[in-house]
Amino acid sequence: MPGDSSTNVVVLGSTGSIGRSALSVAEHDGGKRLKIWGLSAHSRWEDLVEQAREFSPHAIAVTDPQSAASVRSRLNGAGIQVLSGAEGVEELVRHPETHRVLNAIVGAAGLNGTIAALDAGKVVALANKETLVVAGQIVMDLAKKGGGSLLPVDSEHSAIFQALSSGARSEVRRVILTSSGGPFRGRTRRELENVTPEEALRHPTWKMGPKISVDSATLMNKALEVIEARWLFDLEPEQVDVVVHPESVVHSMVEFVDGSVVAQLSPPDMRLPIQYALTYPDRCNGPSRRIDLTRAFSFTFEPPDRETFPCLDLGYEVMRRGGTAGAALNAANEAAVERFLNRTIGFLDIPRACRAVLDHHPFDPRPSLDDLWKVDAWARQEVARWRI
Ligand code: NDP
Ligand code: MG
Repeated sequence: MPGDSSTNVVVLGSTGSIGRSALSVAEHDGGKRLKIWGLSAHSRWEDLVEQAREFSPHAIAVTDPQSAASVRSRLNGAGIQVLSGAEGVEELVRHPETHRVLNAIVGAAGLNGTIAALDAGKVVALANKETLVVAGQIVMDLAKKGGGSLLPVDSEHSAIFQALSSGARSEVRRVILTSSGGPFRGRTRRELENVTPEEALRHPTWKMGPKISVDSATLMNKALEVIEARWLFDLEPEQVDVVVHPESVVHSMVEFVDGSVVAQLSPPDMRLPIQYALTYPDRCNGPSRRIDLTRAFSFTFEPPDRETFPCLDLGYEVMRRGGTAGAALNAANEAAVERFLNRTIGFLDIPRACRAVLDHHPFDPRPSLDDLWKVDAWARQEVARWRI
């Protein structure tokens, strides 16, 4: 890195679960390798002000326009540039001194930040899986063309990325993503009819933001992840498998043509894959928990229950269809999860609404970015009209 050995990191979505974990990695590092160069948040502006005071970044961006003025007055005289709106995020990631961008924004709202960073030739540590679900083809083409690159943050994809170095790409038979099964593993469809947001948000092994917690309960998270894997690692749909592993220690596996299966293991702690994406290709000591092999424990693996959790098959369908299907599924799911959290639809309406939107959306096999945003808006309207 020019003139300095540390990496200037911009954290998009610093007030969220992944954003905070990233700042805890940076804090542990103490500025040796990682310098927090920029932060962005949407509505929790007071938390952002606190983070800015602690890490003294070059600049911060507030996407919610109402909050920007409050942030400016609080940080007056602190020597931190305060940017606002989507343009603020873009300016932050494109800055010549930005080296790496961690995209930890939730939902399709994260797409523009990834695109701007790749277009400016940056390394993107990608937690925002929706980026690839919505616009995988466009984003991967841009990564090839613009000189930027993507490093996975999602624990499963980080595991696959690490395991892939055990062989050549032509020697890979398939990847096997693990899933915790979520809080409703083992339940019947009938038992899921009346589950509440509180129950859905109570994840057994991970502590995450509300949207991905509900996605884990419906298994939509795994659907989004099979699509993410397809794009990140250039896989055919038949090469992506899912197995339920409730302990969340084996983060995923790669099977090679000779039958060897290579896995990555660590306790469920997002600080490890975040750190790896920020320091790659180096590994270093960090704050994440380590496996304790002094006490007895065992691992469980079982096939996913695709009938009770139909979202998983929607992911496979989207992976096969490509085009606008990912944008339709993602937006329908975002809107349905929001309605479920607001208690205006039930838990099982989430897969039902997604199925209906996917079936009826105006499919285009080669959409532009504009076309994808139109499908996104259309799908959200459809779910807003959904009656139970
Ligand atoms: P959170 O809900 O905890 O945080 C989301 C972040 O995005 C917040 O900083 C929020 O700002 C910001 N944000 C929300 N809406 C907008 C918007 N319209 N424009 C700009 N920024 C916005 O989510 P998580 O940290 O759980 O997840 C973030 C991403 O990482 C998701 O894509 C998720 O799928 C992925 N991921 C998360 C994992 C986890 O363990 N949490 C694991 C693997 C992947 P504010 O709070 O200020 O409103
Ligand atoms: Mg994951």
